[in-house]
Parts: sequence; structure tokens; C-alpha cells
Amino acid sequence: MKITDVQTAVISGNFDWVLVKITTDEGVTGLGEAYWGAGVNELVHKMRPMLIGENPINVGKLYEKMVRGMSGAGSIGGATVTAISGVELALWDLVGRALNTPISTLFGGRFRDKIRIYADCHAGDDYTPEAYAAKAKEVVGAGFTAIKFDLDQQNEERRKTWVDEDLGRYHKFEPFNRTIPPAQRKYMESLCAGVREAVGPEIMLAMDCHWRYTVHDVTLLAQDLEKYDLMWLEDPVPPENIKAQARVTHNTRTPICTGENLYRKHGYQDLIEMQAADIIAPDIPKMGGLMEAKKVADWADTYYIPIAPHNVSSPIGTVAAAHVCAAMSNFLVMEYHAYDVKWWEDLVEEPVIQDGFIHLNDKPGHGLTLNEDVARAHLKEGTSFFGE
Ligand code: MG
Repeated sequence: MKITDVQTAVISGNFDWVLVKITTDEGVTGLGEAYWGAGVNELVHKMRPMLIGENPINVGKLYEKMVRGMSGAGSIGGATVTAISGVELALWDLVGRALNTPISTLFGGRFRDKIRIYADCHAGDDYTPEAYAAKAKEVVGAGFTAIKFDLDQQNEERRKTWVDEDLGRYHKFEPFNRTIPPAQRKYMESLCAGVREAVGPEIMLAMDCHWRYTVHDVTLLAQDLEKYDLMWLEDPVPPENIKAQARVTHNTRTPICTGENLYRKHGYQDLIEMQAADIIAPDIPKMGGLMEAKKVADWADTYYIPIAPHNVSSPIGTVAAAHVCAAMSNFLVMEYHAYDVKWWEDLVEEPVIQDGFIHLNDKPGHGLTLNEDVARAHLKEGTSFFGE
């Protein structure tokens, strides 16, 4: 079997979903997805000559060929690895279809058929405990057992209040120095308390800080949140310094999660070896793909660290990732970022989410069929539909 073509279709969802289709001389095809980002679509096309004529069964070799072939174009990270991830997902789907086997079987089989997902929640522009609580109730009512909210978002009026209050008393808060004024910290706690009270103790609840804060101030926040029994507090400090990250993790009982900005197994090396996070969140269609994610998961498991993948993909990337999650003993929960995109599931013909879980089917590959009418209707302007 030989690869005859590699083409893409960029679908405008809440992110630009870069779908990657690989065709072969035997008529078997594979469909993958790369995380969104500037240049990703172009980089997939740049790799076409490396793939055409190759046997798609040799996924590991093709992954290395892409990594080594693209390393001259710049560092191996960012958009380059993201593009490689999209091709890698398509290759696994193709191999599964060629062997009439679900992707999960290719990674050792399933620990579970149902993959728990958490809904990333937004209460519009209303950053109040009441709005957060109402949204949480709505999403839990829709069947989700795990949810996440942003803790760092704040409307401008409220930000001004904190500046006014704290400039007078502490003279240290300004928008760029990463501090959390005490009034803001208390407000963040009230958001957390509002949600926890609304959904009760059983719902798995995470809060995201988007890399904004100082080690000291966010550690105080994490400590204040201990009584709410969070699933995790995410990305407390900027992502570049693992030692700073470790200091937060090691000084609070609130579990700390990070990892969506890292690439390939080497990117996770220090995070795992320093036990700098309690939970690791690789974005699978971004960080290198299914096999690289499995390697990171197995490595994390040597320190008994669970995996909770970050995910903003369409059903294609999400379910492909869910197959490898099924094969990870240390899988915890995976993100679902499209609760408010009502046509998300219409992009494929099979059912995907039911009662807060992805139900994997037993069809070959990732088991999904693209609904071409829906995909075409949301095709990004100025892009082609798989080369047409
Ligand atoms: Mg995040």
C-alpha cells in the first residue's frame, strides 16, 4: 500500500479545525485533524512530498521522517509539530481501517469504552458567581459530570475596582506584573464557591488561570481554594519555567494541572521528572499525536501522574484522541470545548457524546464518517475542500 495524496479542509468552528485526509493506491483513506494555528494548513501541504509513495503502515518511521524533514525549517515545536500531529492522526485512522481495527486496539486495547469529558464553560461576559453558578447548573443538567471555568477572566469595570482598592492599600498591583490583589483573590474564591454550591460535591470541577500569575500570589489562591475540592487549578504561572511551576504544585493541596503548551515527549521531560504538576494536560492533535501522547502518558505513569488532555478539536481530533485515552491506564478526563457550538456533533454521522462521555464504537480507525455537507457548509473562506 502506498500513499497517493495528502489534502486538507479547514473548518471554521469555534477554532479553525484543520482536517487532514490521506489517500492510498488501495482505496483506503485516513482522516485526521491538527490543532488550529497560523501556518498549520500550509505546513501540512509542505510535508506532502515526504509522504507520497510511502507505506502508511509505518507510522513511527513516517513520524520521524516528518520531524527530521521539518527541523531544518526552524525549531521542532509549535506549528510544525501541530501539522505533523494532524498527519499522524490521519495515518492511525488509515492503518485502523486497513486492518479493520479500532485505533484503541493498536495502542494496547481499552481500559474503558466510555471516555469521560469535561465541558469547558463560559458564562458570556458575566463574570459573577451567580452567572457561573447558573451556567454550571445548565451544563450539569445536560449530563456532564466534570466542568471547567475560567478564573482569570474579569470585566473591565471590576478590574478597575481592584486597581483602585489595591493601589491605595498595597501599591503593588498593576495589570502587567502578574500580582493578584487580595480583593481579586477573594472574588475568584467567590466564583469557585458559587459553582461548587450550585453543583454539589460530586461534580468534578476545574478552574483555569491561563498562565497569568506570580508564584506567591497564585499559591495563596490555590491554598484558599483547597476547601472546594477542585479537580485541578490549571496553568497558575507562565509556562516557561518548570521550577516556578513546581513551587506552586508543591505548596498546595489543590491539584495543579498544566501541559497544553508543550510539544513532543521531550517537552514533558522536566515536568514529569520534577513532578512539577499533579495532572498533565497534553493537547494530542498539537503535541505530536497519538503515539507521542501515549509515550508521555506511560512516562507520567512511572510517577503515578494522571493525564487529562486539553482539547479544542472537532469530533475527528477529539475522538481520535479518545481512542488513545482509552488505552492509557492513567487517563483521568478529556476536555470538550464546544458545548456552545451546536453543530459540533453534526460534523460526523455517528453519535459521539452521550451523558458527558464519548462512547467509542467498534468500527475501524476512529470510527467516524465526516458529514461532507456540514463540513462544506462551514469550510473556511478561501480554502479548498481536500484539494477540490
Ligand atoms: Mg487551559
